[in-house]
Amino acid sequence: MSEQIALNNGTDRTKEARMRELIGILNAAAYAYYVEDREVMSNFEYDRLYDELTALERETGVTLPDSPTASVGAGYKAVSKLTKSEHEYPALSLDKTKDRDSLPGWLGGQRGVLSWKLDGLTVVLTYQEGRLQKAVTRGNGQIGEDVTHNAVHFGGVPRRIPYGGKLIVRGEAVMRYDDFERVNRELPETEAKYKNPRNLASATVRLLDSREAAGRPVTVCAFDLVYAGDDAGISDPNSKNAQFDWLAAQGFTVVEHTPVTPDTVVQALEQFERELPGNAFPTDGLVLILDDEAYGRSLGSTGKFPRNGIAFKWQDETVESRMIRVEWSASRTGLLNPVAVFEPVEIEGTTVSRASVHNVSIARALRLGAGSRVLVYKANLIIPQIAETVESTGETFVPDACPVCGGTTSIHENEGIETLYCDNADCPAKHVGRFTHFVARDAMNVLGLSEATLETFIDAGFVRRFADLYKLERYRSEIVTLEGFGEKSYDNLKAALETSRKVKFSALLNAAGIPGIGKDMAKQISRYLGAGAYERFMTLISERADFSAVEGVGAVINDNIYAWADDADRLSEFTELAAELDIIDDVSAAAENDGTAAGGTAATPIAGKTFVITGGLNGFDNRDQLVAFIEDRGGRVSGSVSAKTDYLINNDVNSGSGKNKKAKALGVPIISETEFMEMCGADA
Ligand SMILES: [Zn+2]
Repeated sequence: MSEQIALNNGTDRTKEARMRELIGILNAAAYAYYVEDREVMSNFEYDRLYDELTALERETGVTLPDSPTASVGAGYKAVSKLTKSEHEYPALSLDKTKDRDSLPGWLGGQRGVLSWKLDGLTVVLTYQEGRLQKAVTRGNGQIGEDVTHNAVHFGGVPRRIPYGGKLIVRGEAVMRYDDFERVNRELPETEAKYKNPRNLASATVRLLDSREAAGRPVTVCAFDLVYAGDDAGISDPNSKNAQFDWLAAQGFTVVEHTPVTPDTVVQALEQFERELPGNAFPTDGLVLILDDEAYGRSLGSTGKFPRNGIAFKWQDETVESRMIRVEWSASRTGLLNPVAVFEPVEIEGTTVSRASVHNVSIARALRLGAGSRVLVYKANLIIPQIAETVESTGETFVPDACPVCGGTTSIHENEGIETLYCDNADCPAKHVGRFTHFVARDAMNVLGLSEATLETFIDAGFVRRFADLYKLERYRSEIVTLEGFGEKSYDNLKAALETSRKVKFSALLNAAGIPGIGKDMAKQISRYLGAGAYERFMTLISERADFSAVEGVGAVINDNIYAWADDADRLSEFTELAAELDIIDDVSAAAENDGTAAGGTAATPIAGKTFVITGGLNGFDNRDQLVAFIEDRGGRVSGSVSAKTDYLINNDVNSGSGKNKKAKALGVPIISETEFMEMCGADA
């Protein structure tokens, strides 16, 4: 194990340095070309350097994060509207079944491929001469919209591929659940939140400004090779399985799939079923296609469905319950979300008593009067939903007064969908939301300060501005007499607040609630600022420095920063708060000394490497500490082992855990904490 590490650290160093250099030159050239409309080198020169980089990446097996080959680059482009584009090969949709036992018979003695049916937006990618030429949304199957300007920034879309002929690939543009939560959270307060990852992925794919799109993590997973020339070199061009292997070798991210036969298909389906609850990406069932493409095509289609494939959807177990009420839960934006509250029922092993009903239109259509009999199910075995109302006792009650502030509400309509909002700009729900965000773990991390307590404090006028939380002793005598809040709770809260005074600058910046600046963006800015981050930040603000120069920040966030800073109330609230705190820099002195100028941490031995952590730890108190240690040094931490993982950290190197097995299968080195520390130069 340690030999492998020595190799990675030793011989690849100079190659990595050259790769960094090439990436810098290529990205600058692409930026000049795409954004400034300026050619700083000939196409020939660009291609020569690009090829050198590709060769180095292949040789070392490392693709650095900002490599232009990894499709995240500097070339941003904005279009005034999306142009329509006709598909050369129309996309059909598949017939569906919920009957797993029908699948062996459906295969009819043939081999097949079983894969996820990802829930996003289908994009058709066309390559010519090894370059991405066009990306078009599926649209109605015949005509879609040209989204090439954005597609080049998405994961899974190589800008260049080894194959030089014509290639057409269908892929699903999807967003991970965790990325969805984050992006949604960081959206400016003025923007409506997205309901699910599919809506957000779809909106992102269709953005007019690719700079904005590039800031949102969308991955395109290839699921169908539509066309490749005879010279593509696919080991068996007629086999769907072989086509997938070939696509992966060309640099595409291919949807998770497995070859099946009539004997194994149900077993394979059950394996997918087991993975379903832990899936990072949203899915909408599975797809089974025949491996033999020519045979599949010869079957033709039934009306509108082709016969070579079928979609499988899980049979959702529905359980009857009785409505108690519809709650309208307020969010930071003033949006009031209807939640159906019903008598608790057991579905797929868990007790369920609440389900979101999304918006006014759906809530009304379901007629959810108290006592109504409803059928409840878990969509994709995960999210509780109301399937239908079996017997309604009356209309769904839509309040005309905000349940939080009692102010008036209004219904907003957008594309036929009605949503309910609180009209009151000073609604405590909006206020409470600001504070809930402020005390959250990734922000000020004030333990045990619940939303209910915050609400009480705000209603009572104890807390108006952030710094007030650190001056609560003024109200001590009143607080300890509050219902359910004795001396002990007060002391605990006080202790938690005292602990939270020591805070990393990135966490403080996240806590400030500047639209678009969440945990990750705050870290990015903090690393850029380096030592004395708070003072530097305030200086740069006063000089009106351009933050869009910071990697990953961009013009929108820069505008948000100044919209925030120009609001005297907000800025003074921030400085007043800072005076109460002990702000520490994200970048430790050690990391900074061995870092390079750009970004501060670029040259640490683990920069750009992806780690997965499993099992107990010895040197670190908890996993969060190790995660922070890695991230401070420019590394990344992921939750599951994949081909993109560089190291699995596990003190029990020989354990038979699932992560260890997967790491071994993929050839990912498993290292102990000690080996990891050696790798970092043990500067803990
Ligand atoms: Zn309100």
